[in-house]
Amino acid sequence: MSTKIMEVDLTTVPITTDEPPPPYKTESSRYHNPGFCEFAFRERQANSIPGGGMKAAEYFSSCKSCSFLCGDEIPASYKTGWPEWVDPSVNFRWESHVASKEPMLGGLHGELLGCWICWEYEQTWVKPMVPEDWYAHMRQHFKVDGYRICKGKMGAMQRRRNCRVEHCPKIHS
Ligand SMILES: [Zn+2]
Ligand SMILES: [Zn+2]
Ligand SMILES: [Zn+2]
Repeated sequence: MSTKIMEVDLTTVPITTDEPPPPYKTESSRYHNPGFCEFAFRERQANSIPGGGMKAAEYFSSCKSCSFLCGDEIPASYKTGWPEWVDPSVNFRWESHVASKEPMLGGLHGELLGCWICWEYEQTWVKPMVPEDWYAHMRQHFKVDGYRICKGKMGAMQRRRNCRVEHCPKIHS
């Protein structure tokens, strides 16, 4: 009985924007690709190295490995009821892509996206999602689970190579 009450109390604690993100469990997941496009996986690694990563404009041309073309539209459902919504950034969306063998499943441009947060924090590979479902999934992570985006000077999600905090537990592109 008392255990039950404890559980209810824990799950109803409201998450404030000041709450720190969950701890970053391990970095070993960075060295094994569970299913991202090979180039997306490499790009995520490159973005953590000084001088690494593609130029901003390159995120808008098709992937040289799988022809993926990254969209930049955020579905309205992602922002609904969330005035302080956070932008996961086009770089992060690009890094999340999965090479789709069935273009019809991936929407207009064959866009299918995996989740780096589930992979890096929980070592869980979630089923690749079309953009609308991916944003709903990200909304859960940022609005409900308490994950935080690491922001650069301009307020946008920054690449890990630009973050000066050692072992920063926030989400980078
Ligand atoms: Zn690709
Ligand atoms: Zn996830
Ligand atoms: Zn950071």
